[in-house]
Amino acid sequence: MKATIEHKGHTFQVDLSQPIDISIPLKNGANNPTAWYVPKVKMEPVVIGDWVGEVKQGGSVNFFNIAFNPHGHGTHTECVGHISKEKYSVNQCVKKFFFTAEVKSVTPQLKGEDQVITLESIQKNWTATEAIVIRTLPNSKNKLCRQYSNSNPPFLQKEAAHFLKEEGVKHLLIDLPSIDKEVDGGVLAAHHAFWNHPENTRFESSITELIFVPDEVVDGSYLLNLSFAPFDNDASPCRPTLYKIC
Ligand SMILES: [Zn+2]
Repeated sequence: MKATIEHKGHTFQVDLSQPIDISIPLKNGANNPTAWYVPKVKMEPVVIGDWVGEVKQGGSVNFFNIAFNPHGHGTHTECVGHISKEKYSVNQCVKKFFFTAEVKSVTPQLKGEDQVITLESIQKNWTATEAIVIRTLPNSKNKLCRQYSNSNPPFLQKEAAHFLKEEGVKHLLIDLPSIDKEVDGGVLAAHHAFWNHPENTRFESSITELIFVPDEVVDGSYLLNLSFAPFDNDASPCRPTLYKIC
């Protein structure tokens, strides 16, 4: 299924039957990427009296409750409501779902005890785009179930987040649990810089964390479909997909 896209004076084609899924599936139990000390994901059948919501236990249907945390487990998209006093919902803020995107691989630089994604690494071979998909190197498959709590994962220099804002990048996707340092005293400098909050808040912008970009996906230009569940919450689980531009 081929589509021809006209966008800002350019025309390109994508094959909608060939999505590249860059989300991480959420599973029952501990085998998920996990951050911020949240307990493991729980998917359990509802029990009402004698009735169990699981066919293999004699129920008529499978009918499960799920307990998880959108920030702490798996791929999620968040809006400025993550850092604002006022409550904002990602479902209210992000109302468009297709964007031009650049996949960019970066190697975090060691600075003291930190691994930092620098402004220079983001600026290198810069191409204007609506969304940036940051793949950190090395790109091990254990990102699919890494336990990030108390591990001081790599993060984005606030100058790099500021640069992305200045360049008009609306959506930032990254394969880490946060664009900020795990323990930063609550400053969240990169989140604030990217959303330009509270100075002139970019409500329509989003940050998507804990993606996984497979090695086969080469750096360069794609069409992004940023889709998430319509939770009225600052963050929601999501399934971003990329389409190669042909
Ligand atoms: Zn988050």
